[in-house]
Amino acid sequence: MKTFNVYPLTPITPVRAEGSWLWDNKKEKYLDLYGGHAVISIGHSHPYYIEKITRQLNNIAFYSNSVLNPLQEELAYKLGELSGYPDHNLFLCNSGAEANENALKLSSFKNERKKIIAFQKSFHGRTSLAVAGTNDTSIQAEINKTHEVVFLPLNNEEVFADTIDDSVCAVIIEGIQGVAGIHTPTNSFLQLLRKKCDETGAVLILDEVQSGYGRSGKFFAHQYSGVKPDLITTAKGMGNGFPIGGVLISPDFKAKYGLLGTTFGGNHLACAAAISVLDVIKEENLMESAFALGEKWMKQLKTIEGIKDVRGKGLMIGVEFDFPITELKNTLTNEYHILVGTASNKNVIRLLPALTVKAKEIELFNEALAISLSKQLQPSNN
Ligand code: PLP
Repeated sequence: MKTFNVYPLTPITPVRAEGSWLWDNKKEKYLDLYGGHAVISIGHSHPYYIEKITRQLNNIAFYSNSVLNPLQEELAYKLGELSGYPDHNLFLCNSGAEANENALKLSSFKNERKKIIAFQKSFHGRTSLAVAGTNDTSIQAEINKTHEVVFLPLNNEEVFADTIDDSVCAVIIEGIQGVAGIHTPTNSFLQLLRKKCDETGAVLILDEVQSGYGRSGKFFAHQYSGVKPDLITTAKGMGNGFPIGGVLISPDFKAKYGLLGTTFGGNHLACAAAISVLDVIKEENLMESAFALGEKWMKQLKTIEGIKDVRGKGLMIGVEFDFPITELKNTLTNEYHILVGTASNKNVIRLLPALTVKAKEIELFNEALAISLSKQLQPSNN
């Protein structure tokens, strides 16, 4: 049997990792500024994280949701405290897509409606909303056969206000659009969403799968707006590489047996991983440093010639060029051994490093980018 080939992969095989660095099977060293799609929050192989998971593995690993697991309570308590949502309840699952599916289910259970508003170019995982990012109307029509999903332009207050009514079940929006190439909803747009959801009885879901866990400089990116969503979904950085996802659920939603469920969600190892991530974020003040490093980095990037736009918050940064980044990315990977991410906008580099990234490591990237750009943009002598 072979693997089902669906991923365009960078051709390196990491065998060891530490902090923001990877070593491959040829003993080559790489600076990782992408963290496997924003997964690495507290750095590769953080010693505290390794110790917590190892200890848990030697105690009891993987026992599903059929017996009491105090680690889930500890995780919920610590997440509530650090995120500023102590009164929300936590449902644990295994991935971002699953978190969003559960959020949509909870919304339908609450208001018995099925129409969803999502935003163009958004990405919510391989869910019912999987192709929200596409402009292909035939694919959108295909989705609408089973789900009534309306895709609206991000940050267009007029269109949103004209569209939402009391037939809408939920409005789902990313804290910062990641896959699209780093686009942030304005504070006033999020505030309007909250107001209109309150007026119509729609549920407001904030997808913080990529933008959450301190990456933006606040625990969740939407917290810059002061808005409190009904449901918040999370995954990626939550387990620093160990698969875990969750839905933070406002106290207005009442739990009852059988409403949601999963075999592996919140298993012992996943909880040990997620608890250690929260401990490290708190102990090492990673939200504050993500904000400070990100602000400084974006200022520095703006001084480099050849860049069209720099945007984002904290350590979730999009760098846009006037041309597709394929060659630039290859140069960074092959000549400078620096890993960066792409976006559905082919002109954008996505930077999603560990929150523990060092200023010196950022400098290495800036220098490599400036030199690669100047070479690439030099007029050819031929
Ligand atoms: N939501 C957002 C905003 C994402 O960026 C992603 C993944 O990239 C997902 C959901 C899906 O997460 P997962 O791949 O864990 O299912």
